[in-house]
Amino acid sequence: MTDWRVPLTDIEISEQDVQAVLDCLESGWLTMGPRTQAFEQALADYVGSPHAVTVSSGTAALHLACLAAGLGPGDEVIVPAFTFVASASAARYVGAEPVLCDVRSPLDFNIDPDDVARRITRRTRAVVAVHFCGYPAAVLALRELCDEHGLVLIEDCAQAIGARIDDTGRRVGTVGELGAFSFFSKKQLCVGEGGMVTTADEALAGRVRLLRSHAMTSSTWDRHRGHDPAYDVVDVGFNFRLDEPRAALGMSRLQRLQDGIAARRATVRAYRERLHDVPGVEVPFDDEAVERSSHFAFAVLLEDRQTRDRFREELKSKGIQTTWYPALHTFSDYRGYAPADGLPHALETADRHCALPLSSTMDETAVDTVVEVVREVVGA
Ligand SMILES: *Cc1c(COP(=O)(O)O)cnc(C)c1O
Repeated sequence: MTDWRVPLTDIEISEQDVQAVLDCLESGWLTMGPRTQAFEQALADYVGSPHAVTVSSGTAALHLACLAAGLGPGDEVIVPAFTFVASASAARYVGAEPVLCDVRSPLDFNIDPDDVARRITRRTRAVVAVHFCGYPAAVLALRELCDEHGLVLIEDCAQAIGARIDDTGRRVGTVGELGAFSFFSKKQLCVGEGGMVTTADEALAGRVRLLRSHAMTSSTWDRHRGHDPAYDVVDVGFNFRLDEPRAALGMSRLQRLQDGIAARRATVRAYRERLHDVPGVEVPFDDEAVERSSHFAFAVLLEDRQTRDRFREELKSKGIQTTWYPALHTFSDYRGYAPADGLPHALETADRHCALPLSSTMDETAVDTVVEVVREVVGA
């Protein structure tokens, strides 16, 4: 079915976005130039991080964060089991071992710092805190824990650009040594494919910049501006660069990011108001978390997996698109990473949740349509 009454997500490209990309194409400079530099500066300002390095995807951002942190074979990296798989793949790219940990509960399905503490061994080197669905994880508690044990904290901010970690307005991506963001087409700030690494540490930022482009000591842009054409290669690097048209598009869309997040939050509030008394449907997180979240996705909880699967089928038949995230240790390539004592909250959340349509363009009528169908389906 492609003709959804309410699709899971939607993006709006403005005239200004189109013009920004056209201007870039007409400039004749297509990669690693002034638009990328301007976008990085604007992103650093927005996040409140001294350094922002754009890359080709959120996955590349996590990969370079792991490399910059010096993670490698023999190291353990603690990752929540309820997340998108890229959060854990990054550790494996560098030869480290992801150690899956649990989330707090289906009603607060972010990484559980107490479970992280239980899984620290002599080999643990880092923790990946995922701000899932846009809701900020408990990074201040994790910061303390990591400092106590000499661990690197990497924030996976792929779903949470603009989310606030406390009442001071401090944003995600500023607490860990490194933050990884995604500009994939479903994310709040989207350009198609793209990502970024944030850090307050100049040496880490330099390392990410170096590895992003073949570990070459000068860039095409440097050479274009008349700098020394000679360069050295000082490590095994990658081509994880973002190109200029995407930087132009990102810069244009960044101007509307706050409005987009506010619109998503208004939709989430409308959903919560209309769904709170629907029997058999629970709504995770509290009002405070809703204020801080940047709202990538809106999830509800059904009674169990069977009920959830039936619920999704019936919504689909009525034109409402939904999705859900399996727990990582239920994927065939991740079964070997399931800890002996299990991950009950991650499993229960994966089994029971269903993400309903959410985007910055969704209006109240669409919310009403979804809620009406939900009520019908659960017989309320
Ligand atoms: C989207 C996502 C990523 C990966 O980002 P890409 O840009 O798609 O590579 C990583 N972690 C989480 C939690 C994500 O949602």
